[in-house]
Amino acid sequence: MSDIPGSLRGAANIPEQEDLPVRSARRHARCLNGHDLEQAGVNGGYHHDLRTSTWTCNLCRELHLPRARWLVIEHGQPTPAEQAAERARVWPVLLVARRPEARAGIGRLELRVRDAAIADVDLQLCGVDHRGVVRRIRVDVAYLRRGFGTVMLDAAMARGPGYHWSTVELDPSPQARAFWATQAPIEQLHLGEPHYCSHMREANGDWF
Ligand SMILES: [Zn+2]
Ligand SMILES: [Zn+2]
Repeated sequence: MSDIPGSLRGAANIPEQEDLPVRSARRHARCLNGHDLEQAGVNGGYHHDLRTSTWTCNLCRELHLPRARWLVIEHGQPTPAEQAAERARVWPVLLVARRPEARAGIGRLELRVRDAAIADVDLQLCGVDHRGVVRRIRVDVAYLRRGFGTVMLDAAMARGPGYHWSTVELDPSPQARAFWATQAPIEQLHLGEPHYCSHMREANGDWF
C-alpha cells in the first residue's frame, strides 16, 4: 500500500466535536429541532473519540441547523459501580449504577465522561410493590442544556419498566420547572409528590 495522503492523515488527528447534545437510546419520534424523523430521515454514525453512536437528522443537516446530531447514551444498561473503573478504560462514556445500602433505599445512577461524573440521578426502587421514586437529578453546570438531565430521567425509569413512578417535591426554581415542563417520560410519572411504599418509608427511617 502507498503512503496515506497528507490531508487524510491530518484529518484523522482533528478531534471530533464533543459538546454534542445527548439523548437516550429510546425511540425518538422527532429530532431536536422538532422534525418528524420518519419524514426528515436519520443517519446513524459513530463518535470515535467518545466511542458512542450518534444520530443525525438529515433535514437539519441540509438546513445547516444546530443540534442536527446527537450522541446516543445507552441508558438501559448501567455498569455496576464495582466494574466501573475497569470499563472506563475502554468506554469514555459510561452509565454507572450504585446500589442502595438498604433494600428500597436510595440508589444512584451516574453518567461518567472520561471518568468524571457529569450527571446523576438518585432514585428509590421497590421490586415488591413495583414502585419507583425519582429523587434528584443533577447535571454539572458545564454540561447544562445538552439533554443530560433528560437522559438521567430515562435511565432512572428504565430500572423499573411498568412501575408506578413519582418524584419527590420539585425544586421551585424556574430552571427546574422548565426542565420538568419539557419532559415526555416513557411512562406515567406523578410529579412533586412521592408515592413511597412501606419498604421505601422504612429505608428512609419513616415509620408513619
Ligand atoms: Zn431535524
Ligand atoms: Zn415496597
